[in-house]
Amino acid sequence: PPRSPRSEQLYREAIEVMPGGSSRATIFYAPYPLYAASAQGCRVTDVDGVERIDFVNNMSSLIHGHNHPVVNAAVKAQLDRLTAVAMPTESEIALAQELCQRLASVDRVVFTNSGTEAVMMAIRAARAYSGRSAVAKAEGAYHGAYDFAEVSVNSSPETWGRAEAPSAVSATEGIPGYVNEDVIVIPYNDLEATEALIEANRDRLACIVIDPVVSRAGLIRGRPEYLARLRELCDAYGIVLIFDEVLSFRLGYNGAQGQSGIRPDLTALGKIIGGGFPVGAVAGSAKVMSVFDVRMPHVKIHHGGTYNANPITMTAGLKTLELLPPAAYARLDALGCRTKTVLTEALAEAKLHGFVRADGSLLSIFFGGQDSDRFRELPRSDRQTAMQRYLHSALLDEGIISTPFSAFILSTAMTEADIDSLGEAAARCFGALKRQFG
Ligand code: PMP
Repeated sequence: PPRSPRSEQLYREAIEVMPGGSSRATIFYAPYPLYAASAQGCRVTDVDGVERIDFVNNMSSLIHGHNHPVVNAAVKAQLDRLTAVAMPTESEIALAQELCQRLASVDRVVFTNSGTEAVMMAIRAARAYSGRSAVAKAEGAYHGAYDFAEVSVNSSPETWGRAEAPSAVSATEGIPGYVNEDVIVIPYNDLEATEALIEANRDRLACIVIDPVVSRAGLIRGRPEYLARLRELCDAYGIVLIFDEVLSFRLGYNGAQGQSGIRPDLTALGKIIGGGFPVGAVAGSAKVMSVFDVRMPHVKIHHGGTYNANPITMTAGLKTLELLPPAAYARLDALGCRTKTVLTEALAEAKLHGFVRADGSLLSIFFGGQDSDRFRELPRSDRQTAMQRYLHSALLDEGIISTPFSAFILSTAMTEADIDSLGEAAARCFGALKRQFG
């Protein structure tokens, strides 16, 4: 029987009005995705009335789960007051102040509407500031859909090129070939090779865009000496160091940069800072951020945007961050540890060869291979992809929502009992995986 008759029917309608029925490739899965009807806390109900525990949390943006009463009350009050206006509002100052207070590297903030835009504007700021155009980014890292950022993400190993100097490969069609002439792909956590590439391109590099914790490449954390050396190289050659903390900001009260102790010049933010509403931000030192200063006779970057600093988003974002004192991160980390334990035990019980990578409230399961903090050394095979898809599907039938690539993202709405439910569901699914894939 179909998993969700109503979703199947809706999907048939969707394909008549959207290509492949989808407006968001990252949440599609075959034969049709489940359509959501409502949610509360860590639970989502689909259009057939089936409730599941949500381990995706809108790709991490809902750090408090769905419909947190305090966030919703503030948003409802703001809805009745003012939804959008071509004037600044107090709410943007309050959220910017909160970000400046949390991030030692940040004196100034401008808002955007997505993480993609945040990375794009950060790169533009670095170019305007440095007068150069080339961008260095890590192999395997996802930074959103900007042409100069969507390079060497999820590319197939045949196109990777040499480990010491990875090829720049656009992740999608529709990007002009000349773009990649201005992108230097660096091997994350390989200090020697990265240093050689930065040295060789030092006069043309505007910026290095890097996540302190790379999600798409398998939750790899930058080695302390690696991030420290990037900081030194940027200082030595006048290159702007951009941290992409769109995702990793959720890992600590001061973001992942606070944990690393390295201060970037610019930080791209998104996801949780909008409290579940569309958001992005470029934040950084007063010096570099001055490229956006509207008081200048010659403004270097004219940063417009009908929805920038929208008061609904600003209100939700501020409330969300206010609900995140340091203790909330400690609790999320503890839930993350418990999740890693139950999943690892379930793998062992099923005698399934695999491992769990975890960083705070973010987790990811790999099948086969060995753990590593190098992108190319992590397991990557058609078999693993098939197993991850199978797991995603089997978990849906067990009442668990994860991603089709075996990522699990926690929220403060979860309890230890929810984590244990995942462990029990995973144990049954791993048993089935073992029988299916051996
Ligand atoms: N950078 C990182 C690290 C991300 O995880 C994402 C989104 N998954 C983006 C940028 C792009 O953000 P958005 O989807 O809001 O455009």
